[in-house]
Amino acid sequence: MDVRSEISVATNLGDLRHALRTPLNHILGYSEMLLEEEGISSSEEATRLLTAIRADAQVILSSLEVRLSPGHNTPDVDRLRADIHTPVLQMVASIASLIQSSKVNVLTDLFRISTAVGELLSFVQGDNLSPVRPTAAFKSPARRVTVSGHLLVVDDNEANLEMMARQLAREGFSVETAIDGKTALSKLDHDHFNLVLLDVVMPGLSGLEVLDKIKSNDNLRNVPVVMVSASDELESVGTCIEHGAEDYFTKPFQPALLRARIFATLERSRLQDQERQRSREMEQISRELKRSNEELNRFAYAASHDLQSPLRTVVSYLQLLARKLDKDLDEQAREMLDLAVGASRHMSELIQNLLSYSQVGTQAQKLEPISCDAVMEETLRHLEGPICDNDAIVRSGPLPTIIGDRVLLVQLFQNLIGNAIKYRSEERPAISISADQEDDCWHFVVRDNGMGIDPKYFDRVFDIFYRLHGADRPGTGIGLAICQRVVNRLGGRIWVESQVGTGSAFHFSLPSEPAH
Ligand code: ADP
Repeated sequence: MDVRSEISVATNLGDLRHALRTPLNHILGYSEMLLEEEGISSSEEATRLLTAIRADAQVILSSLEVRLSPGHNTPDVDRLRADIHTPVLQMVASIASLIQSSKVNVLTDLFRISTAVGELLSFVQGDNLSPVRPTAAFKSPARRVTVSGHLLVVDDNEANLEMMARQLAREGFSVETAIDGKTALSKLDHDHFNLVLLDVVMPGLSGLEVLDKIKSNDNLRNVPVVMVSASDELESVGTCIEHGAEDYFTKPFQPALLRARIFATLERSRLQDQERQRSREMEQISRELKRSNEELNRFAYAASHDLQSPLRTVVSYLQLLARKLDKDLDEQAREMLDLAVGASRHMSELIQNLLSYSQVGTQAQKLEPISCDAVMEETLRHLEGPICDNDAIVRSGPLPTIIGDRVLLVQLFQNLIGNAIKYRSEERPAISISADQEDDCWHFVVRDNGMGIDPKYFDRVFDIFYRLHGADRPGTGIGLAICQRVVNRLGGRIWVESQVGTGSAFHFSLPSEPAH
């Protein structure tokens, strides 16, 4: 549709602005390009004329913004005609001189400017206008910088299409064009594009419809789409962004701005791709880790379970041998047998603890309301021997009922209180157990007056097999690793505070509500 007839049917200022901006877009775009190209920039006179054309086009654009600003109820067309009369006539004179004095290689572009100026002139004179449909196909430009992206430009106006494609190609992009939505979708199906520049107003499939099709297609939804339109109605901009467009340009646009925003959109999309790739890798790693952890737990369980029985046999036979040979054994042989039995017992304890450790990771938890007072009672029964032997005092405040697994909780308390007795100082062991509610969890503390732990080992003591006081106290270095596993499995965390010589406080939190 030509400018005149668009004006006559324009029902709002937006349509009218749209109709007049198209020729201005062509004038600004082609003059900008020609000024940068060698064919023109080597001639001072040609540069002056083109600069003047560009300046006149800017003046007309400003008048258009004032006379047809969204504040006006009806298009002030007559005032606009009067305003732009002089700059349009100046452009006519400039383009005529330019065409006369220029070389053949730039004439095609100058004729495009001339056609657009002619349209504005017809508008100023109120004559009938003829539609602009340049047919020259877009050719790859001579000046091509590094290719930084493969772009698809979609516009039903061939001159727009050609101009944008050329501008973008000059920036180093590799550019494909499509004259309508259907062609664009078919090209998108067959080729990978880093970005789509999509005209909003097109016959057949509108830009918005094409955008919807892109965004609802799993293979295409991550391709950024930048909408281009001569309409700057906020509603239209908003709709496009809501439908998933990454950006929106209003024609005519500054080539520098176009380039900067396309680069920004491409960079954003590249970072998003990277982020998606990273999160896919993380998911993969975490699946792998889970699988190998489960495998390791199963292996540790099977290995320790199967090792128990032959080891029991070794211990029994060693003891039988010791009894049978009782009188025939000399001092040294007896010592050797005792050492062998002791080592086998330690190994048996190690295996037993490893078994417990792996079971914390593999066995299904039985989550139910558990009274921690009852857990304490059971724990103290299990620890009767060490408590009596060490004359230990164990005090516990009222403990809550929590949602947990009884077996796991007994293991936790037993390891912590057992250690509090085992790592005693010269003083009589005094152990206290308390619990306080904090926000959405219970905070437990098992405090002792034992030998204490140097702060630099606070983290390490929870590592499996790590023993700080290994030389003088029996143990396997698995107890605190079990405690950490139990607490983690129940959704809490465990840590220690201590000072060498004054005792330790093992803290752990457990959620007051079960995790869903
Ligand atoms: P084990 O007691 O079998 O050595 P643990 O995993 O239970 O293994 O403990 C790891 C190490 O942490 C112990 O060897 C000990 O050095 C230190 N530790 C644990 N509990 C205490 C405590 N209450 N007081 C001082 N040191 C402790």
